[in-house]
Amino acid sequence: MVLRTTKTVLFGLFLGTLMLIGCVDKFRPKKEIRTNCPQGIEPIRKVLFIGWDGVRSDALLMADTPHLDSLLPNSIYSFNVDRGPYTVSTPGWSSILHGVWPDKHGLTENSFKKNRYDEYPDLLTLLRKHKSVLGLATLSNWDAFLQITSEETYAQRFVTDPEMVGDALRILNECPPDVMLLHFDFPDASGHEFGFSPSSLEYLSSIEITDNYMGQLMAKVKEREAQYNEEWMVVLTTDHGGEGTGHGGQDNLQQTRRVWYVVRTPTLMQNLINDGKIVDLMPTMLTWMNCPLSGLTLDGNSLY
Ligand SMILES: [Zn+2]
Repeated sequence: MVLRTTKTVLFGLFLGTLMLIGCVDKFRPKKEIRTNCPQGIEPIRKVLFIGWDGVRSDALLMADTPHLDSLLPNSIYSFNVDRGPYTVSTPGWSSILHGVWPDKHGLTENSFKKNRYDEYPDLLTLLRKHKSVLGLATLSNWDAFLQITSEETYAQRFVTDPEMVGDALRILNECPPDVMLLHFDFPDASGHEFGFSPSSLEYLSSIEITDNYMGQLMAKVKEREAQYNEEWMVVLTTDHGGEGTGHGGQDNLQQTRRVWYVVRTPTLMQNLINDGKIVDLMPTMLTWMNCPLSGLTLDGNSLY
C-alpha cells in the first residue's frame, strides 16, 4: 500500500515535469508573425521629397502629368511660388532644404564657398538633432545636390534616372528610410538643350517622363501605406524655371522665379494657394515629422 502510493506520487511528479517542459516551449510552429502594426498604434510618419530640377510652372501645367494630378485632391499646392533671387540651382535647393533665403544661407551661385550651413542647418541635420535614430536618404544624379544636406544614412549618386528610380524602389521595398530626398535633373538638362518653354515638346516630354518616375514611386508609397500603417508626406517641387535655354540672372522674370510645389499626405484636404513661398516647405516637413520649430531661425511657416 505504501509502495503503491510512492509509485503514484513519483508518476505524478513525472507527468508534472513533462507538462512544465511543454509550457516552456511557447514557439509553436503555427505561430503567426505580423509585420504590420495592429489597429490603434500611431501611424509611422515618413517623407518622400522629389525635386524636379528646372520645371517652369506653365510648362508643368501644359504637360500631361497624370501622377502629379492624382495627388492634388490630398494636397496643398501652388503654381505661383516665389523661389527667391539668384535663379540657379544651388541657391534654390538650399532655400528649399535649409528653409531660409540666400541672405541667410549665403549661396548666390552654383558654388558652396560662401555657405552658412552651420548657422542655418538643413532638414536632415535638424531631424537628426531632434531624433538620433532615423533613416535619412538622398539620391541624385547631380553631385551638388548631395552636398546640400548632411547626416544621411544612405547617400548615392547615379548616372541615369532609371537606375536611380530602380534603387529608390528597392529601398522603399526593403528598408524605407524615414526621409528620402530624390532629385531628377533631366528637365533642367532638356530645358538647356531645347528651351525652357511650354511650346518645347522635348522639354514637356522630360517633365512627363519625370512624372512617370514619380508615379512608380507613389505606387510603392501607397502600397506601404496600405500594408504597414505608414503615412507619407510627399513633396514635389522645383528650384527654378527658365527662359530661352537659360535661367541664371533672371530674378525679375516670372517664368524663372515663380515656381510651384505640391505637398501631399493621405489626409490633407485639397488647398490651392495663390501666392506661395519655397521656404515654407522645410517647416512643413519638420512639422510632419513632429520636430518643433521653436528656437529655429526660418524664413517660412508650416503650410498646415
Ligand atoms: Zn540649369
